[in-house]
Amino acid sequence: MILRMRSASESQVRDGTSVYPETVIAIADLTRPAKAAPRTSRDWTHGPAGEPRGYIQPTLLKELWFHTGTTCNLRCPFCLEGSSPGDKRLGALTLADVRPFIEEARSLGVEQFSFTGGEPFVIPEFPAILHHALQHRPCLVLTNGTLPILNRMRDVAALRGQPHAVRFRISLDHANAEQHDAGRGAGNFDLALNALRTLHELGFGVSVARHRGKDEDVPAVDQQFQAVFRAAGIPENIPIVSFPEFLRPNSNGAVPVITEACMTTYHTPDSRAAFMCAYTKMVVKRDGHLRVYACTLVDDDPDYDLGGTLSASMQVRVMLKHHRCFSCFAYGASCSDPGGNPMNAHQSGVSPP
Ligand code: SF4
Repeated sequence: MILRMRSASESQVRDGTSVYPETVIAIADLTRPAKAAPRTSRDWTHGPAGEPRGYIQPTLLKELWFHTGTTCNLRCPFCLEGSSPGDKRLGALTLADVRPFIEEARSLGVEQFSFTGGEPFVIPEFPAILHHALQHRPCLVLTNGTLPILNRMRDVAALRGQPHAVRFRISLDHANAEQHDAGRGAGNFDLALNALRTLHELGFGVSVARHRGKDEDVPAVDQQFQAVFRAAGIPENIPIVSFPEFLRPNSNGAVPVITEACMTTYHTPDSRAAFMCAYTKMVVKRDGHLRVYACTLVDDDPDYDLGGTLSASMQVRVMLKHHRCFSCFAYGASCSDPGGNPMNAHQSGVSPP
């Protein structure tokens, strides 16, 4: 697909007149508090040939993600977060870290809190964080379904009966133990299935995140998963979300430039509103500081650090510069799962912990 289409002039981009019809803002609004913005660089707004980049203007904060940190009990070679035991690229969140963002998100009308890692259940305070969040909104937790959550199942069971419900999305990369365990370690396929069944039997909503091969027959692969679910006593109609390869953090994925014109040629106002960066943000702890990033996929690029508060982050136009933006542009990648709607099954999205 050729993506370099007609494009607005540089002056139109600079003065804010070259915008999608529903997103009229001035470039002068591209500010953030505290530290200097690397986003003043031309690379943020323009591709290598000077073409204005496509962008998303955030609208509402519907879902707030928390990255609980890049420490994990597993060491998967494909992890897009580069997580492993003791990894500190992103720090472990505490309840005190999370509280003010939950308050601010509520004031902005957030509908759901979601958690990813790393493996959230290796974080000591994670059950307390989840309990607090559940007093205010429904929650979604991405987990690898192995010993950290299995060893804390008593804490998890105690989360039933809270004002809001929590759902769990478990990583099951392939529909057989051999392939799954080749990446995650021997025995982890069976542990993940065990966690899936246990959470379902406890009454929690569950879904599965799997890898998606290039040019695979998605329904055929899903049927293989459904056979595994049937054999394990798990409902075969639970949502399955498949994910393309996103590469390791700080990789240079070679993808076409997404220009401003691409976003009106290939996308509509409705499809632009479905990009995660239009309605979600993610809180991370980096070097001891809590920062808000544009989405779950871009925490390895400082250009996507949108500030220290949610309200500041919502003012920033998100340029589609990161190589992972192309997956959103071309395939509709999203790790969101608002409301656990089965219609979200088969969306592509972020590789889970
Ligand atoms: S990766 Fe996707 S959701 Fe994130 S900033 Fe890029 S286009 Fe937006």
